[in-house]
Amino acid sequence: MFEKILIANRGEIALRVIRACREMGIRSVAVHSTADADAMHVRMADESVCIGPNSSTDSYLSIPAIVSACEITGAQAIHPGYGFLSENATFVQVLEDHEIAFIGPTAEHIRIMGDKITAKDTMKRLGVPCVPGSDGGVADLETAKVVAAEIGYPVIIKATAGGGGRGMKVAADEAGLEIAFRTARSEAKAAFGNDEVYIEKYLQRPRHIEIQVFGDGRGRAVHLGERDCSLQRRHQKVFEEAPGPAIDAETRARIGRICADAVAAINYIGAGTIEFLFEDGEFYFIEMNTRLQVEHPVTEAIFGVDLVREQIRVAAGLPMDFVQEDLAIRGHAIEVRINAEKLPGFAPCPGTITQYHAPGGLGVRMDSALYDGYRIPPYYDSLIGKLIVHGRDRPEALARLKRALGELIVDGIDTTVPLFHALLEEPDIQAGNYSIHWLEKWLSANLG
Ligand code: ADP
Repeated sequence: MFEKILIANRGEIALRVIRACREMGIRSVAVHSTADADAMHVRMADESVCIGPNSSTDSYLSIPAIVSACEITGAQAIHPGYGFLSENATFVQVLEDHEIAFIGPTAEHIRIMGDKITAKDTMKRLGVPCVPGSDGGVADLETAKVVAAEIGYPVIIKATAGGGGRGMKVAADEAGLEIAFRTARSEAKAAFGNDEVYIEKYLQRPRHIEIQVFGDGRGRAVHLGERDCSLQRRHQKVFEEAPGPAIDAETRARIGRICADAVAAINYIGAGTIEFLFEDGEFYFIEMNTRLQVEHPVTEAIFGVDLVREQIRVAAGLPMDFVQEDLAIRGHAIEVRINAEKLPGFAPCPGTITQYHAPGGLGVRMDSALYDGYRIPPYYDSLIGKLIVHGRDRPEALARLKRALGELIVDGIDTTVPLFHALLEEPDIQAGNYSIHWLEKWLSANLG
């Protein structure tokens, strides 16, 4: 087992990894930018290294700075968290060259899944159901027209190198295709430096259902059920739950088996998430994330496993601590993402926390790096906390969420907490009756 792990991240996810390390008797190294000198992850880790200035390009995304921090501190492995370098194949390659272990999949798997077209081809070959669409990239408008006519409107144009919901445009008909095609391409070029796009059938009222998989890198893999992450704003998840209100045990076992078999077939190692749109009982693959997800705690709650501990174990060459038969669902869990944002426009509003009080009690987990007097720097993501609740069933989880949100105090800045108070009053949310478009519609009717 590793003696020392460096965490190439900040905020709540850095704390999450430090906590797993501590329970496993592993020393932790925090890295930070100058803006984060007094951040919680720096205080909580056993050691810390400043790796650069405020801008994440020169700090949390700087491969030389992070590798140097490893060499200086003698850390044997790096946990990347999510975001930043977590899906950067070059980074993983550089670590291999320096004989530093990466707590995550191989550079090759990251590369395959990072290119959406290659990912889709690979999944199709492995028997995973995909959204109907172009076979590969679409080079020009004429080809786009032919493909769109074949699969039928509406269609969505997506960037091959896409991520974070950027570079996606919907076309309702042929007239709308030209503008959608051009804007998707130019957005993709600007955001990812690659203007290749592809076309998919645009599903009108699907749910976003993702399957958590875990592999040992030697041909064995399991699934840990699904998460329903349909409540999204601008293609970003805000509320996630497990199990999915629309998924029954038989459906879960069927799609779970397909996903576990697919990742076993490629000798995938560690945690991964296979994302689907789910409509009328059918699953359609959209992408695979080769890392720990923000919403992993809902899965941990219902299965009673520590996914970060498992990641560290398999990265150290140990076998997985469970087989499929050991994994049983207990109860229901919900996560809400609390952002430093001002409603109704969701404008980021960093600032100083004058008072912070985390909720507690049975079935409540608050993952956050906030503390009294903390100054939230304006340079990074606006996520400041995740509130996760676990109950015996969905109604109990909802009641617990309402109770816990009532206990939470974050003073000094605006947050998205009022959004969740309002959502919990909605009959559709109470009934688990929503698709990926529900929240945008609700926002324009209620906050627009
Ligand atoms: P990104 O990597 O940018 O997050 P994804 O491919 O994961 O992109 O898609 C993000 C979200 O966009 C999905 O959760 C869904 O809300 C929407 N979306 C993607 N593809 C389609 C589609 N074919 N039809 C309808 N909505 C889609």
